Amino acid sequence: MRLDGKIAATSIKEQLKKEFASLNKRACLAIVHYDDPASASYLKGRLKIAEELGVEIKIFNVDEKQTTEDLISLVLDLNNDANIDGIMVDRPLPKQFDENKIINSIISTKDVDGYTSLNLGNLVSNQSCLPSCTPGGALRLLEYYDIDLSGKDALVIGRSVNVGKPLSLMLLNKNATVTISHSKTVDLKEKCKTADIIFLALGRANFLKKEDITDNTIIVDIGINFDENGKMCGDASKECYEIAASYTPVPGGVGVMTNVVLMENLLKAAKWNTK
Ligand code: NAP
Repeated sequence: MRLDGKIAATSIKEQLKKEFASLNKRACLAIVHYDDPASASYLKGRLKIAEELGVEIKIFNVDEKQTTEDLISLVLDLNNDANIDGIMVDRPLPKQFDENKIINSIISTKDVDGYTSLNLGNLVSNQSCLPSCTPGGALRLLEYYDIDLSGKDALVIGRSVNVGKPLSLMLLNKNATVTISHSKTVDLKEKCKTADIIFLALGRANFLKKEDITDNTIIVDIGINFDENGKMCGDASKECYEIAASYTPVPGGVGVMTNVVLMENLLKAAKWNTK
């Protein structure tokens, strides 16, 4: 079964649009943006969904002549600006900036990307928090298709702070039994065969092959890669789709859900901000 991000996103956006309209103000997201090609394409998607949902976006372009302190000062101003409901800082920033310091200056109630240490810490202690958008999007897609995670053996491939680690904690909080794997994991393909759900977040095209899975496997493909013809593809080879019990396609799977979760986070933040 195809777990279609576009279908899930369309349905969730209808509800979100109504909820944004019912706020007594227009929600506003501030984006501290550096014009890197990956961030530029991500920005297009955010502008599109914001327009669809009636959300305002304010872009603050990063200039390479600025310093870490300049960006922290900008973030602190945005924290104190009652008209701004959510703040995100695009990454990667150029090397001279201390990304961690800048991101951790975002007040946690406006951290719609879920990347501050406070939001990540809340995830560790299973407290309510704004989930980071990509892992949150993967789980939102499974939730839309009523896939229960409780008691399932979940294999997460990748341990980055952006994706693999927060995803693993979210799965644990949903009572999955989680194995976190990475480039030094031994016998990974054997682990793939026995997992109920495989979350691929390694960024290697065609890593997962049909012989690595069974017809009970659910594949959640978070990877974004480009093949030799420049076509977007995930970490699972397309041949897996014929075998797996369910799979998320690339494109049209988890990636679509990332911006949906961003908007869900913004809605929560806007409600807190207007209380
Ligand atoms: P990353 O920081 O490069 O992390 C990759 C992880 O994969 C690392 O933990 C690495 O292990 C592990 N890995 C690499 N090769 C491996 C192998 N052969 N076997 C097992 N593990 C291996 O990447 P990321 O930021 O987490 O992103 C992961 C993928 O998700 C990328 O394709 C990225 O484009 C995509 N992504 C998608 C979205 C979306 O909206 N769908 C958003 C963000 C990222 P080590 O720790 O040992 O190096």
